[in-house]
Parts: sequence; C-alpha cells; structure tokens
Amino acid sequence: MTAPTYDLGKLHGGLRLPGHKAESTSNPILDIPIPAQLILPLEQHVGEPAQPVVGIGDRVLKGQTVAEPDGEMGVPIHASSSGTVVAIERWPVARRHGEKAPCIVIESDGKDEAISDTAASDYSALAPADLLLRILDGGIVGLGGAVFPTAQKLMQARTCDTDYLILNGVECEPYISCDDVLMRERPEAIIGGARVLMHALQVNVCYVAVESDKPEAIARLGEELARVDDDRIVVKQVPTIYPSGGEDQLVQLVTNREVPSGGLPTDVGCIVQNVGTAAAVYDWVVRGEPLISRVTTVTGDGVATPVNVRARLGTTIEDIVKFAGGYTDRAYHMIIGGPLTGKSVSTDEVPVVKASNCVLVVSKSSYVRGELPCIRCGDCAVVCPVQLQPQQLFWYACADDEQKLRDFGLTDCIECGCCDLVCPSHIPLTADFRMAKGRIRELADEKARAERARHRFEARNARLEREQREREEELARQKAAAKAAGPAAIAEILRRKQGHDEDDAS
Ligand code: SF4
Ligand code: SF4
Repeated sequence: MTAPTYDLGKLHGGLRLPGHKAESTSNPILDIPIPAQLILPLEQHVGEPAQPVVGIGDRVLKGQTVAEPDGEMGVPIHASSSGTVVAIERWPVARRHGEKAPCIVIESDGKDEAISDTAASDYSALAPADLLLRILDGGIVGLGGAVFPTAQKLMQARTCDTDYLILNGVECEPYISCDDVLMRERPEAIIGGARVLMHALQVNVCYVAVESDKPEAIARLGEELARVDDDRIVVKQVPTIYPSGGEDQLVQLVTNREVPSGGLPTDVGCIVQNVGTAAAVYDWVVRGEPLISRVTTVTGDGVATPVNVRARLGTTIEDIVKFAGGYTDRAYHMIIGGPLTGKSVSTDEVPVVKASNCVLVVSKSSYVRGELPCIRCGDCAVVCPVQLQPQQLFWYACADDEQKLRDFGLTDCIECGCCDLVCPSHIPLTADFRMAKGRIRELADEKARAERARHRFEARNARLEREQREREEELARQKAAAKAAGPAAIAEILRRKQGHDEDDAS
C-alpha cells in the first residue's frame, strides 16, 4: 500500500545531498551482545543531570532506575542490563572538546535479569496526566538527537491548543538510517506509540512524515495503518531535501503553518516527535521496557560493514565498531551523529547514549578541507532554510559584534550546516555560529548575574537608608518627649545617640 501525496508547504533553501544510506540499510537491524561493562552517563538529556540512587557494589536489574531526575527538566536513567555497579566516575562522553562527564559503570553479569514487568497495556484507561507521568518514568527523551524530555514537551503542548501531532520520520541528514530501518521493521511500535501520544495529548490528527525516497518504510507504515484501521493517523510524504526534518521546517512542510522567529511549533498548534521516540513510548507504556537501548547506524568509509545495530545504552563505540567488522585502513575521523550536525570525538571509549543515532567514521579525503577567505558569492544565503545571511553572520561573528549577530537572527540558526556545504571557500560557518551562540549565552548569563548583584546592592542600600531614617525618627520622637520631661532626659538621649553613631562608624 502506498501513501498518497498531499499538498505541502514550501521549504526555503535546503540542499539535495547524496544520501549514503544504502550502505547501511541492506541488512536488518542486528542486536549487539551485552558488553562486559555498561557506561551510563548521568546527563543524557537536555536539563539537569540525573542523580545516582545506587552505590558501588549494588546489584542492579535490567530496567531498574539507577539515577533519579533532578529538576523540572530531568528524566531517570535505568540499568540497561543486570549486573553490579563497580564505579561512579568521570568517563569520556560524546561532547565537543572531548570532555569527560560523571557516569555509572555497571559490570554486567550476562543474565540480563529484568525487574518485574510494569506494563500498562490499557493506556486508554489512564488519565492523560497520569500517562504523562508514566512516560516520564520511562526515561524517554527525543531520540532524533535533541534529547528533549518527552513528558515535559507533551506537558507544554497540553497547555496550548494543539491540533496536530507530527511524527518525524524524515531522516534527511546523509548517512543516518536508523529511523528508516525502524519504520521498515517496527511499524507497529511507531503507530502504537502515535496512538499512546495522541491519548496523552488528546489530539485527533497525527501526520507521520516520511521522505519520498523511503518507499519501503512508507509501505510498511501504510500496511500497519490498514491493520489497525485508525483513520486519525495519516502518512505524508515530503520531498527529500535537507533539512526538511528540522522541526520548524517540517511543521511548515506538513501543515503550511510557519513557526514564528524565536517561537515553538506549539505556537502554531503542532508538536513534533521523532518516530524512534514514538516507538520508545510504545515499548515502555505498552510493553513495560524503559528506554535502555536504541537503534544506531554505524557507517562511513572508515567502517568495514556499515549496518544498523540495536545497542544497550552504555555499550562503547569501540564494541559497536568491532561488531560492524572493525575499522578500515581509511578510518581517520569519528563523528557521533551525522556529518553536518554531529559531534567529533577523539576516542571510541565513549558510550552509546539516548542521543546516539549514528556513529560515522570517515576517511581523511572526505573530511579535511582547507579554509579560504569569503569571496561574497552569496551561495550560503541561497540555501539557508531560515533565510538568514550566513556571510553577514560570519563577518559579525569574527568581529564579536553581539548586537549585529542578534539583529541578523543568529539565534534562529538551526545549525543545519547547509551553508558550510555550499561555501566554495570551505569556511566552517556552522562551527563559528555555534561558538558565537555560546558566547552570547555566556554574556547573557553574565548580564543576568550582574543584574542580580545590582538588585542585591540596591536592596541593601535601601534597607540601610530605611533603618537610618527610622532611627532618626525615633530620636526626634524621644527628643520631643524629653523636652517635655526636662534637661536630665535630654542628656540621656544624647548619650544614646552618641552610642549609635559609634556603632555605625564601626
Ligand atoms: S547553519 Fe544556520 S546559517 Fe547556515 S544554513 Fe543552516 S540555518 Fe542557515
Ligand atoms: S558561501 Fe562562503 S564564500 Fe560565499 S558568501 Fe557565503 S561565506 Fe562567503
């Protein structure tokens, strides 16, 4: 069954890029054996890191909570297999600049013994608010790479008039194919997850957006929709243009509604969830398995056998690449994520986390490009999907001109990397914009800190002035009373005033 094509909104700019997907989609998803050690970073989501609730030496079971959320944006972390906690220590993680971060290290016992099943198969009997809490308990975050806590995003949408749930199956960045294979192999989990999410949101329309170059995924989703006979859910094909999978771009394409600058899809009645996130919601709410594994694409000309694997969270990249046949002689550079938005890492000790949609290992020839001066050709502006002028932003980023960067819309940049790709001078524009955004954020934090200090200083001065005024008023009142009482009382008041003045001076 093929999904019909619908009228679509227009995407500005963007690029048709070589997909490099076929390399990793010729095999089905393969399960990686449980490794000897699982490394679980406490920070796998947007928001405060989770706080450990286990100690060294504790035995844990698969699916057991090992770290609790901290703060409004927190989510829990679960043991991805059974074993013993052997360390809580800093470990290399997939962050820029090769930083380390606190992790719970579990030595697995190979038994994969799970906590008792807590599945709520009849989710429709749950009130939406209870369903949101349940989704939070499953540790579920956006699996498209943004890792925004799913329950919090749904709660925010519940406070707005939300018309459409959009499931994002538009995997537009080259090399990444984990969503494509998931749609082909587990359409029941994606459609089932869509139905759970619709109940949680109380919306009646869901669009599953898939690029037109994924006929097999479109067919499998169509068959599943026919099986469950739910006409509230519709598959929409979108053109294969990068970055049509960006949240705002997808809302525009699917609903023809434009997300305002600085706004959110909920401002125009939409909420976007990745198809992998929908499947994770289904696995937790219906099957009782929290988010302890994910599908990751292992690919690039630096990997012997590109493939999609289902890995337990905490498996190291070293183990995954070994499973994919190891490195080729050409392996030169490693990226976690796609070639345009991913993060370069310098060690394969980093573990798979909730955000790890792809491990890309490339050769030197496909990575190194020398940078030349800007020739003002304007190609970067033509492809920018947010209609920015990257060449101007580049100029102001070099000049560190925060105001101009704001005026020219730097904060609207989605860091898609289209401008980098077309730049004949090979200027790493996106990296410059990312750094400039970081500087602006730091300046804003500094400003906020200075503002708080100024408030404290002014409040202290106001308090001191008030106390001084009150003392003077009291003195005047006493003087008036003493005048009526005679010279001895006046002498006593003057003596007390002298005492106050000496206290103030000290
Ligand atoms: S990285 Fe930013 S400036 Fe460059 S094309 Fe994408 S949105 Fe535009
Ligand atoms: S594409 Fe590169 S060279 Fe051309 S205007 Fe943009 S930054 Fe300058």
